[in-house]
Amino acid sequence: MAAAFRFADRMLAQLDALGRISEHSDFLLRTFLTPEQKAAHEQVAQWMREAGMDVEQDTAGNVVGRYAGAGADAPVLMLGSHLDTVRNAGKYDGMLGVIAPIACVADLHRRGVRLPHAIEVVGFVNEEGTRFGSPMTGSRAIAGTFDPAMLQARDRQGVSMGEAYKAFGLDPDRIGACARPPGKVAAFMELHIEQGPVLEHNNLALGVVTAISGARRHRVEIVGLAGHAGTVPMGQRQDALLAAAEVALCIERRCTGTPTLVGTVGMMEALPGAMNVIPGKAVFSVDIRAGDDATRDAAIDDVLGELAAICGRRKLQHSVTELYRSTATPCHPALMQMAEDAIRAQGIDTMRLPSGAGHDAATMADLCPIGMIFMRCTRGISHNPLEAVLPEDVELATTALLRFVEDFRPVR
Ligand SMILES: [Zn+2]
Repeated sequence: MAAAFRFADRMLAQLDALGRISEHSDFLLRTFLTPEQKAAHEQVAQWMREAGMDVEQDTAGNVVGRYAGAGADAPVLMLGSHLDTVRNAGKYDGMLGVIAPIACVADLHRRGVRLPHAIEVVGFVNEEGTRFGSPMTGSRAIAGTFDPAMLQARDRQGVSMGEAYKAFGLDPDRIGACARPPGKVAAFMELHIEQGPVLEHNNLALGVVTAISGARRHRVEIVGLAGHAGTVPMGQRQDALLAAAEVALCIERRCTGTPTLVGTVGMMEALPGAMNVIPGKAVFSVDIRAGDDATRDAAIDDVLGELAAICGRRKLQHSVTELYRSTATPCHPALMQMAEDAIRAQGIDTMRLPSGAGHDAATMADLCPIGMIFMRCTRGISHNPLEAVLPEDVELATTALLRFVEDFRPVR
């Protein structure tokens, strides 16, 4: 029987095969510097060679395939994504963005097409940070921003990243040696499943990413007075949890209706935590993100202002600690336009949207202009074995990516 699709049948079989390379027999888990990483990278390297690429493992452990261009010295177009996973992962997050550009190069190779620039396809290590808690180290190494302090991070068994590098057969002192000189990479383009429901909601297969949102996370502590749940009248309480609940609802109100802005209270604890005690203390997290930092920071300022007002009215003390801050990374306007043109050339509509999640592309922005194409995933589910994609979307994403690659011109 003839294949239904030019690309998708083989790619979905490849993604299934990668999805079976797991540290656990019941679910997909493939972490940094493990035998499973090695097996997955060897498999990917074989597919890269079949596609006409020269393949190497770089000093950080990334697998890199190179399809030479007609001009020897032109800066390369780099494509790729990550090959590691979260625990109990789906099989498309990351892997799609490695398999699709390999399929594109295989097609160029079959047709004997050489582009003015070389194409490199990278399967990054350790985007997720599942094992050591320090994500994006593969792309950081290539972008020249790898911090050797990360080598001290330890996994649950107490093994440091540095020790794991040695055990894997790589020299931790040489991780940064794979950093690319500025100007040698013309652009980085990453295809990734959306991991959210926006494309599906808009009935679109593909979207063009505008920016990778910057996040700020705070820990908020509100202190009132614990008391007897039966004896203290309602008007005389200093209930810390009720103030926290008000703040959570204020975050929902403030972040609703502004494009790209999202706010989440993902953790909340009432202390001392007994059924018959008025909460004397509440501790909760605030995660606010947006496609640009000004939008995000304005929302945070408003929320913190509301927090102070609520606590003042309720006669409570509060403190706020910032735990994490990353700046938004814009995609390059010319790359966005090229991606949009390549998608529309497939005869389909598209939209622009921000990425609320972090990606290797954000790290690569320290080295070169970046772009991202999002592909619809079923019900927006990701980081979950229920992650699913449509074969026709895989086909569209790959033909659009191939069009992008063939039409690519360096940007400034
Ligand atoms: Zn991913």
